[in-house]
Amino acid sequence: MSAHDSHGPGHDHDHEHDHGHDHDHGAGGGGHPPGHRHPHQPDIEDRPPTHYMLMTQAVGDLLIAKGIVTADELRRTLESIDATSPAAGARLVARAWLDPAFKGRMLADVNAAAAELGIDAGGIPIRAVENTPALHNLIVCTLCSCYPRLLIGLPPDWYKARAYRSRAIREPRAVLREFGTSIPDAVELRVHDSTADLRYMVLPMRPAGSESMGEGELASLVTRDSMIGVSVPRVA
Ligand code: FE
Repeated sequence: MSAHDSHGPGHDHDHEHDHGHDHDHGAGGGGHPPGHRHPHQPDIEDRPPTHYMLMTQAVGDLLIAKGIVTADELRRTLESIDATSPAAGARLVARAWLDPAFKGRMLADVNAAAAELGIDAGGIPIRAVENTPALHNLIVCTLCSCYPRLLIGLPPDWYKARAYRSRAIREPRAVLREFGTSIPDAVELRVHDSTADLRYMVLPMRPAGSESMGEGELASLVTRDSMIGVSVPRVA
């Protein structure tokens, strides 16, 4: 199913717009099952449900009523989506830093490069955009929250917030400064707007001081935020 958010009833990702996005579950996900409650949503009963919450619940109810999925299958799928972390994306970045040929393949086709490492990046194309000394990349979904979830986990709340979605396009340098990331004026800043059909991840620059590190240690430097582009990896 293509629920309009990874989270079901009670999630604060409202969608007044109706732009027909087929959200992040193309490769095997679904909205949260009817009645599914997240422990981090204590105020879930306090807010009136939005159109999309009701639709998510209705579609989930129907799928179960018609025997297409069981409640347990739906729950297990959502559990695995909720458990995704930025680790897979970080492995890709670390390998790209160490292996220029792999980096070339990753820039050509992230999903195929991920498969080389045994990582399922899903069926929606993901494009890696490479930071260089002359270019910094930032990703956003101006419409909602499209995001390469299978590689870098669930998007943070600020990524879904209207302020980030609008300001990342309008004043990206100011937004980056608020994240503590200062990009010199001489460096071009490119903002990529993710869609239902194409997601982006940033391939950050390998930081100074990491020259002697192996792949695992390098991967540990690669954070979620650095793959969104609001920060850059650093050697602690
Ligand atoms: Fe979106």
